[in-house]
Amino acid sequence: MTPEDAVLRAAEAALADGDVVTDPDIMATYSVDRSTGSAVGEPFAVAFPRTTAQVSAILVAAHEHRVPVVPRGAGSGLSGGANAIDGSIVVCVERMRDVHTVDVGNGFVETEPGVLNQELRDTVAKHGLWYAPDPASKDFCSIGGNVNTNAGGLCCVKYGVTREAVLGLEVVLADGRVTRIGRRTVKGVAGYDISALIVGSEGTLGIVTMARLRLRPLPPPPTTAVAVFADVASAGKAVEAIMTIVTPSLLELMDRTTLRAVEAFKPMGLDTDAAALLLAQSDLPGKAGEHEADLMLEACLRAGATEAHRSEDAEQADLLLGARRLAIPALETMGDWLLDDISIPRQHLASAVAAIERIAEKHAVVIGTFGHAGDGNLHPTIVTPRGDTDAAARGLLAFHEIIDMALAHDGTVTGEHGVGLLKRDALGQELDTSAIYLHRRIKDAFDPHGILNPGKALPHW
Ligand SMILES: Cc1cc2nc3c(=O)[nH]c(=O)nc-3n(C[C@H](O)[C@H](O)[C@H](O)COP(=O)(O)OP(=O)(O)OC[C@H]3O[C@@H](n4cnc5c(N)ncnc54)[C@H](O)[C@@H]3O)c2cc1C
Repeated sequence: MTPEDAVLRAAEAALADGDVVTDPDIMATYSVDRSTGSAVGEPFAVAFPRTTAQVSAILVAAHEHRVPVVPRGAGSGLSGGANAIDGSIVVCVERMRDVHTVDVGNGFVETEPGVLNQELRDTVAKHGLWYAPDPASKDFCSIGGNVNTNAGGLCCVKYGVTREAVLGLEVVLADGRVTRIGRRTVKGVAGYDISALIVGSEGTLGIVTMARLRLRPLPPPPTTAVAVFADVASAGKAVEAIMTIVTPSLLELMDRTTLRAVEAFKPMGLDTDAAALLLAQSDLPGKAGEHEADLMLEACLRAGATEAHRSEDAEQADLLLGARRLAIPALETMGDWLLDDISIPRQHLASAVAAIERIAEKHAVVIGTFGHAGDGNLHPTIVTPRGDTDAAARGLLAFHEIIDMALAHDGTVTGEHGVGLLKRDALGQELDTSAIYLHRRIKDAFDPHGILNPGKALPHW
């Protein structure tokens, strides 16, 4: 029996009928995430466990037979992290979908990993509580994926990324052992913070089967401010100015290319002549929120906004937020696309967006830039005519130049989408030799046979 057959048998023995799939068409669907430009391999099976014990049974067999395992949530990742590897078993947790406990008094929820971000938000909202991290993909990404990519989102500028919300985790380790790490308390410093290490580890250290997540009281309805700019660099300056005077609950940027793509995708009356649009919110209650929004508008006008106003109409504010969330789907329809994800210190935003414009011009490609500007997190998306391989090659050069530019601006090669397959070289550029050594030792300690998502998320060594 081959190692793959042994793992398949073990998985079939542990899981219910229909929960282990070898049909090539179904496997193909579960072999790719939403990224472009990353390699996709062929798995020999896709397993859909429903319990921690079932995940463990698969890993015991995979560890014994040295078979690669690709953990998968909802497959909305943008770095190839959940893409299948040749000869692997994909372990997709989408059928682990229960929210176990909402502890109102202590402000946390315990949930299985396959629950979608928005499903969790809806569940805890019934208790008057709020889960803050809100990726633009919240309707179709899972909590397990959010934990493993340390996902950011629109509210993260005020409330922090997924890491800030994770109190504890249940993790199945590479050899099938199950560990519960973290805490139930607000404070706690016992031992190394292993949950924090798992957060953002992109399925390379274990499979998360439960997450204990911090909740907050539901915030009041936000006050929204909108500002329009005749050049993107001024919008960058406005972001820097805003962040020195207030802490908005949201501060998002869309440039003209993105605005036009969204308007073409779903007409909603966006100002497509604007070079950039800033969308800001305050979730302070009542007059305090209005005051904070006004301070942001004044900062925008001082930075050169051609128009800045409070959106008095909640429906219009929702429309604008919806437009921001449509940025990726809209740019996708324009041609072949390659999405970058960099983060830079906010004082360099203006200079970074100007550099991105120069890079687009130099390589004769279209780049739509949008992102969580308050976090300095930009998603320059390179679009080339469909099937034009020369243009795609120029796009790739632009992609790498954007990464170099981010590092030259004291930034990082990925703000929230993760390393996956797409940014392994870039990670090698960012880390020094000692940090690469530590990554290697940590990976070896968790996964001595290197079966968990091999070839992903780590620099080459
Ligand atoms: C339109 C669009 C908008 C987006 N907006 C944002 C945004 O605002 N912010 C943001 O951060 N991201 C965003 N993303 C990217 C993506 O949605 C996030 O990275 C998300 O966290 C991935 O979740 P997922 O469940 O789809 O994970 P997957 O894509 O399935 O997996 C992502 C990684 O996590 C690992 N993994 C998944 N589940 C587990 C588990 N239970 N245990 C161990 N490892 C696991 C996988 O191996 C992989 O490495 C966006 C994507 C799209 C398509």
